Amino acid sequence: MKSVIISYDSLVSYYYHKAKREKALSLVVGDNENREVDVLYKLVARELAKEDPDDAVVLPVLSFQLLSACNLKCKGCAFHSPEIKDRIQHDYNQFVEMTNKTLDFVDQIQLFAISGGESLLYKDLDKVISYLLKQPKIRSICIVTNGTILPKQNLLDVMKGSERCFFHVSGENHVRSRVDELIELCNINDVHYQIYRDREWRDFSDTNDKHFTEDELIYGFEHCEYNKCFVLFENKIYFCCFAGINTYLNNIEYFDDEILDLSLDKQVLRNKLKQILSMKYVKACRFCENIRVDFKGAQAYEQIN
Ligand code: SF4
Ligand code: SF4
Repeated sequence: MKSVIISYDSLVSYYYHKAKREKALSLVVGDNENREVDVLYKLVARELAKEDPDDAVVLPVLSFQLLSACNLKCKGCAFHSPEIKDRIQHDYNQFVEMTNKTLDFVDQIQLFAISGGESLLYKDLDKVISYLLKQPKIRSICIVTNGTILPKQNLLDVMKGSERCFFHVSGENHVRSRVDELIELCNINDVHYQIYRDREWRDFSDTNDKHFTEDELIYGFEHCEYNKCFVLFENKIYFCCFAGINTYLNNIEYFDDEILDLSLDKQVLRNKLKQILSMKYVKACRFCENIRVDFKGAQAYEQIN
C-alpha cells in the first residue's frame, strides 16, 4: 500500500486557502497576508499540542543563539560574549537543520527567540525569520536586540504586519542606544516590538558550587525567570542560558541527563525532554547565583574598557 506523507507546511497552506475560499479569514490589511497567516498558525500550533494533551511536549521558550559576536562588550554579559567573541556562529543551513530536528520531536514551541551575541549582526536574519514564520508548531517569534543597531529593510519587510513576530529590545539607557529610531522604523513598517525596561542585572560570573540546601534550590528554581528558557546552539539544547554557556565553557560539569543532544533519536529526545520538564531543579542551579533571593547585582551595560 502506498503511504502519503503530508508536511505541516502543505497542511497549513491547504487550510489557509480553504479558509480563504470559505471567507473564514478576512483580516487582510492592504496586501499583507501575515496577519491572516498568524491567526491560522496560532490555531494550528494549539491544535497540534492538543492532539494528545497527556503526551504533548511543549517547549515554553527556545532561544537559538545564532552567534556569540556582539557589538558591545558588557562586563556582566551572561552569555560571555566579550570572552568568546565569534566562536559560536551558525550558517543558515545549520540553523534550519537544528530547528527542524527540534520541531521534529516537540509538539509546540510557544516562543522561539533569536538571540546572540547581537542578533542584528546576523546577515541572513530575514531568511531565518521567513523560515520560522512558516512553521506551524511555533506560536511566536522574537528577535532579541540590544537596541544599538537598526534592522535592514529586507528583515522589516518579512516581519511586516505579523503579530507572531516582534523585536524584544533592551538597552534604552545605553549611551549608544538607538531604541527611539528602532521604534520609529517599526511603526513606519507595521512591525511589532516589545521594550524591555533596563533594570539591575544579575551577576552570573561566579560558577562555584554554592552548596545550596535542597529547599533553597527548589524555591530559587521555582522563582527563577529563566527556568525553562531553553537555549539551543551547536546542536545541543540546554535548560537555560546559564547552564548552556557554562557547560560549553567547561565552567560547570556536563550533566548529560539535562542536555538534549540533537544527534539522538527523536523518541529518546522526546522522553528526555519530558523528564527534564518534570525536574524540581536542574543540577546547574547548584552553581548559579540566581537561586539566591538576595542575588548579586551587576550594572546594566557597563562596558569593558
Ligand atoms: S549587549 Fe552586552 S549583554 Fe548583550 S550579548 Fe552583547 S555583550 Fe552580552
Ligand atoms: S541555572 Fe537554575 S537558577 Fe540559574 S538561571 Fe538556570 S534555572 Fe535559573
